[in-house]
Amino acid sequence: MKCQFCNCQNSKVLDSRASPENNSVRRRRECLGCGKRFTTYETIESTPILVIKKDGSRQPFDIMKIKKGIIKACEKRPVSLNQIDEISSSIEKEFQNAMAQEITSDEIGEKVMDKLKILDEVSYVRFASVYRQFKDITNFIKFLDEL
Ligand SMILES: [Zn+2]
Repeated sequence: MKCQFCNCQNSKVLDSRASPENNSVRRRRECLGCGKRFTTYETIESTPILVIKKDGSRQPFDIMKIKKGIIKACEKRPVSLNQIDEISSSIEKEFQNAMAQEITSDEIGEKVMDKLKILDEVSYVRFASVYRQFKDITNFIKFLDEL
């Protein structure tokens, strides 16, 4: 952090204060060159993830939408809300860790299916049938055969 008074590169931190409301840390520093004091703010860079829909339009990634879809698929199944929470937040984390800025709705659907498949087969089939919008029964049967 360059001192604004003398351009010296070295400073020491006198005080750090987190301000939770905007996810930043405020640091009071003292320049080791000229001794003047200044304040810096550190923030976490968060890039919103955009979802590309089938028609090419984009909208912000919304974890709640994924969760709702999973809840619907798991209706009356022995799947707890906790497990649904875990699935949706692990999907969110995977996309964040991949540093993806744009993902397709297909990628989300595939990930949800991967996880549901392990958790509960009936929910998985329900989700897949809505998600893949089987146009005819033959496709659907073919899909079931591949299970
Ligand atoms: Zn200085």
